[in-house]
Amino acid sequence: MTSSSTLFKDSKKIIPSGVNSPVRYFEPYPFFTKKSDGSSIWDEDGNRYIDYCNGYGALLLGHRRKEIIQTVRKQLELGTLFCTPTQLENELSKLIISNFPSIDKVRLVNTGGEATMTAIRLARGFTKKKKIIKFEGCYHGAHDSVLVKAGSGSAQNGISVSDGGLNEVSKNTLVVQYNNIEDFEKTIKKNHDIAGVILEPILANMGLILPEKNFLSDIRKITKENNIPLIFDEVVTGFRVSAGGAQKHFKIKPDITTLGKALGNGFTIAAVGGRKEIMNLLSPEGKVYQASTFAGNPISVSAAISSLKTINKLKDKLYTKLEKYNLLFTRALDDIATDMKIPHQINSASSMFQIFFTSKPVVDYQTSKKANAKKFQKMFQVLLKNGTFIAPSQFEVVFLSDAHDQTDLNKTLDAYQIALRSVKK
Ligand SMILES: *Cc1c(COP(=O)(O)O)cnc(C)c1O
Repeated sequence: MTSSSTLFKDSKKIIPSGVNSPVRYFEPYPFFTKKSDGSSIWDEDGNRYIDYCNGYGALLLGHRRKEIIQTVRKQLELGTLFCTPTQLENELSKLIISNFPSIDKVRLVNTGGEATMTAIRLARGFTKKKKIIKFEGCYHGAHDSVLVKAGSGSAQNGISVSDGGLNEVSKNTLVVQYNNIEDFEKTIKKNHDIAGVILEPILANMGLILPEKNFLSDIRKITKENNIPLIFDEVVTGFRVSAGGAQKHFKIKPDITTLGKALGNGFTIAAVGGRKEIMNLLSPEGKVYQASTFAGNPISVSAAISSLKTINKLKDKLYTKLEKYNLLFTRALDDIATDMKIPHQINSASSMFQIFFTSKPVVDYQTSKKANAKKFQKMFQVLLKNGTFIAPSQFEVVFLSDAHDQTDLNKTLDAYQIALRSVKK
């Protein structure tokens, strides 16, 4: 009996499925984590894993980054929750705005889901229209307007993916194929009640899927021509693709941006920002309601300030290093899989990648679904046995952090070699 198996038996009795977020469960039981540092996490049995789940991308600078821990320690002495404005919030907002030229004003929230919920409500409040367009496979949090899959037929009215989710809500979400600009254009032409378009500029919730050339700029052009607010959900890409997100990389200005994950480098914080005509609609001056007790709390805000200052200080050094490691790693992985004659695809961007067991390019939801997820699960299990923790799902991605070094990557490549051998059969 391991401590983790005992703890899981216990947790199943008191926590639904034994986990506080569904993706954390895997067969036969998830390991229970005791501590983390740099690139590693340790379970209750003392096993060490090199961590590539990395808080689903949140830990861009690594676990317990020293600058951030120091800043937060100081803030703990001053207080943890005031529910009044603070100078810290001004400082963080200015940092966000200077990194993201598309953002005139920003409101801090706690989670990515809260940020997208607010972004969608803002788009509806601004346009006084009802429907939103989302793309198949994009994930925007666990609320009704976006927890939606494509309906059957050409109408594409969304259907809730969750019991308890109302189809009265999800039918106002139109689901369009990612990387299919014709599908998008057709949907815009057919519907005159579109309040907003939301998407991940790089899709990191279906494995990793890159936007095809001109896909994003075409969407920007079409939304602009039709006066439809464009929401870039940069909860993953925000500080990962560049210090100014995917929008800086692709040189596209959305109307609203959502940020989260790497913003706090492991502390609970997210943000929604955009053009001032839109952001000014928020209460109390405006009529779009949004509120939260813990929003802008000084612990998370000081962590995010420290995290952005560190990112901005390192800037090119950080991204050049991450991209270099990612490239070297994915090339080596590709060679191993090719040598073993395993049909595969590797999609990668900046410091993220995913491998799919299929011979066809993975460009959208359908092609991602066609990859052999059983093989992926097998690979995941063997990686874990060999001290490598990646997110336990084909539909997540592998995240590198600034804490990973060459020794980590070499060990991980060895682990992948063993894991790929096991899926070859
Ligand atoms: C994780 C994620 C969210 C939701 O963020 P939470 O903090 O988990 O609510 C939203 N959008 C994208 C793109 C994400 O990856």
